[in-house]
Amino acid sequence: MRAGLFGGTFNPIHRGHLMAAERVLDHFSLDRLYIIPCRVPPHKFPAYLAPAGERMRMIQLALPADPRYQLSDVEIQRSGPSYTIDTVVHFRTRIIPGAELFLITGMDAFLEIHTWKNQRRLLELIQPVVVSRPGSGPTPARDDAGRLDGYIRSRLSGVYHYCELGTCWREAGGSCIHLLPTAPVDISSSRVRQRIRAGKTIGDLVPDTVNAYIERKGLYR
Ligand code: ATP
Ligand code: MG
Repeated sequence: MRAGLFGGTFNPIHRGHLMAAERVLDHFSLDRLYIIPCRVPPHKFPAYLAPAGERMRMIQLALPADPRYQLSDVEIQRSGPSYTIDTVVHFRTRIIPGAELFLITGMDAFLEIHTWKNQRRLLELIQPVVVSRPGSGPTPARDDAGRLDGYIRSRLSGVYHYCELGTCWREAGGSCIHLLPTAPVDISSSRVRQRIRAGKTIGDLVPDTVNAYIERKGLYR
């Protein structure tokens, strides 16, 4: 069993999230991909955070009718800030013991992982898969590899080094940090929220079902 854990605020979920999820699902032949919205983001609090129930509902509306995609409310149900380490331990002990776990993050999120709670332990329990995001320059693959390499060297104390594949960093004897370089998708939840506030359309940024839901509920105005 190979499972991907894809955490985030999903405020709201958008086409960039869905494309990243699909790419990782295919590339790593995952059996499951769990979308895990956080209750309260531990690092930065957005100016407007839609209620957890609304963010969950939009994820349900957005996910393809494919049983490999699963929505998990584990972080929503847990009180206090959502720490990934707690979620990973929960999946390992309660949900899918014995599964090989991949943690999906955009480049921006991964470049902060040294600030996450128990990041060392976390990196032992999961294999990060880092997906390109805009801002990587004209040649995302090479730029991303350079940025990631610099980050791993400076922040993860040289524990990790390149493995043979060149897009994967391996800890001596341990697991891998995978880079999945893809054409970056220039969509963010912040941009969705900004556009709504500015009275602009968001049909190109979110699935139609989510667009209709946001409009009907008057979210993010
Ligand atoms: P915000 O602008 O509010 O921060 P966001 O678009 O970054 O929203 P998050 O919920 O913060 O969305 O992100 C959840 C995860 O999805 C993070 O790991 C983030 O890097 C990743 N992600 C978000 N958008 C994209 C995208 N367009 N391409 C690849 N990864 C993405
Ligand atoms: Mg973000």
